[in-house]
Amino acid sequence: MKKITIAIDGFSSTGKSTLAKQLAKHLGYVYVDTGAMYRAVALFAMQNGYISPTGFDKESLINNLSFIKLDFKFNPDLGFAEMYLNDDNVETAIRTIEVSAFVSKVAEVSEVRAKLVEQQKEMGKNKAIVMDGRDIGTVVFPDAELKIFMTASAATRAQRRFDELQQKGDSVSYEEVLKNVEERDYIDTHRKDSPLVMADDSIEVDNSYLNREEQFEVVLDLVNEIIKE
Ligand code: C5P
Repeated sequence: MKKITIAIDGFSSTGKSTLAKQLAKHLGYVYVDTGAMYRAVALFAMQNGYISPTGFDKESLINNLSFIKLDFKFNPDLGFAEMYLNDDNVETAIRTIEVSAFVSKVAEVSEVRAKLVEQQKEMGKNKAIVMDGRDIGTVVFPDAELKIFMTASAATRAQRRFDELQQKGDSVSYEEVLKNVEERDYIDTHRKDSPLVMADDSIEVDNSYLNREEQFEVVLDLVNEIIKE
């Protein structure tokens, strides 16, 4: 079977990671959540006092980028790889509303993007990979055999993220989540370096009215067509 690269981009909370994990599991491919990498950098910036509600010391973050070591380690119990920041498992710590509030500002910094994109390209050099993010089909793997661009209305996405956070016991309001989703959409689509745009050769999947299984079937058909070519 031909091994391919699958790039999944789209707005936040469109279910990119759910789809990417399903595909990786089914195909025996590696799954990489690049959002987790940007979140881990945001967490590092918070831990070191470079970013807080009162300001963002971009220079200090840039000067200390070499002290950030990011790794994914596969957790067989969960069936996917978890994010490690300087050898600490940060999988839970990077999913808070505080990290969500700062991450897009950190992701605007070109030096941060250059570091992470280099590591992402390296992870994908042997193909057989499903990577999700905002710039995978445009910047990280412009030659990916399959590019998917996922969309859904902001309200649908906020409801999904809200349900997820509630399940984890995070006491956050729906309005707060919706505001965060809209703010991140704005920053992600308007930043100078690698804004979120749909690649010309990307296939758009609007999953406002598709459930997990339907969405998986749609994309798996596309994968199978390419693999069989
Ligand atoms: O995918 P997730 O919502 O966890 O990503 C968190 C944030 O990281 C996004 O809102 C975006 O600002 C940034 N990001 C990015 N490029 C990627 C992945 C994520 O700028 N490839």
